[in-house]
Amino acid sequence: MTVLICGGAGYIGSHCIRIFAERGEDIVVLDNLETGHREALPAYVKFYHADIRDAKALSQVFEENQIEAVIHFCAYSLVGESVEKPLKYFDNNVGGMIAILQAMQKYGVNRMIFSSSAAVYGDPLHVPILETDETNPTNPYGESKRIMERMIDWVSKTSSLRYVSLRYFNVAGAASDGTIGEDHRHETHLIPLILQVPMGKREKLNIFGDQYPTKDGTCIRDYIHVEDLARAHWNALDYLRKDGQCMVCNLGSGLGYSVKEMITAAKNVTRFDIPVEVSQNRPGDPAKLVADIQKARNVLHWEPQHTSIEEIIETAWKWHRNHPNGYADK
Ligand code: UDP
Repeated sequence: MTVLICGGAGYIGSHCIRIFAERGEDIVVLDNLETGHREALPAYVKFYHADIRDAKALSQVFEENQIEAVIHFCAYSLVGESVEKPLKYFDNNVGGMIAILQAMQKYGVNRMIFSSSAAVYGDPLHVPILETDETNPTNPYGESKRIMERMIDWVSKTSSLRYVSLRYFNVAGAASDGTIGEDHRHETHLIPLILQVPMGKREKLNIFGDQYPTKDGTCIRDYIHVEDLARAHWNALDYLRKDGQCMVCNLGSGLGYSVKEMITAAKNVTRFDIPVEVSQNRPGDPAKLVADIQKARNVLHWEPQHTSIEEIIETAWKWHRNHPNGYADK
């Protein structure tokens, strides 16, 4: 039986492929390569270059392979862009979910691992955040993920579909061997942006606000290493194979680091000075987001292994240093 990884050429999908391959899983990948990279895919993987909303292409994948489960990573994920172009997000993210669920139903495939997001919570009432806490997204990206979560849940109530929705916190780092990593055409994430300074691509880092009600005034986030995150997807599939019930589950490290702490850690790792400038708060940024990860521990039997922020930044640094132009250097 085969696992279909939709969006496998992306940052998280490509790390997942490695973990699944190490576990002896047979994998096929579907990706439209709009934000993913062909170079991120290993040669042994069977690859379909198609959009998830293309019903004909999906039928071909399900006809040609004995698909047992779908890992669904295909989605736009830029918060700022989602505010500017909400329909683009609903079309691709929600539309893509409809298409894949229809195909799964047509071909009798009933296991899905869905990449959801902490963005479904919005501005939390308390931290650490529990899966049972209220969801109240503050931007169309988070809203699209909440709709997608709910769609799967409704479908599961009237069919044999079983799912795990994994709510990611801040995914960071790169493969420990430095061969695959983060390469976004439009970079908005903190660690890659910090590392652009020692790479000579950026003069300084803008800190988006230093007057938040946190220990040093800058926002606190929960950074989870991409390999830890990828491993949890395999555990989630294993859980469904053992007849686990549908659920949502946070994936973070359970630890919070401020923007200033991240910059200090990056200085230690790279041994470069990283000049900063404090600018305005980024609209919609909550002061503190940290996951409660007890459920992932208990139910998925999962524990993050790369919890030192220096270690996480070290892997990202290795990737960026060896590939200053991302996959264009491969
Ligand atoms: N951030 C920052 N400067 C930047 C990029 C990000 O100060 O150039 C902050 C941002 O305000 C947030 C944290 O870094 O508090 C993480 O931002 P990122 O975009 O990486 O992830 P998010 O938490 O928005 O998903």
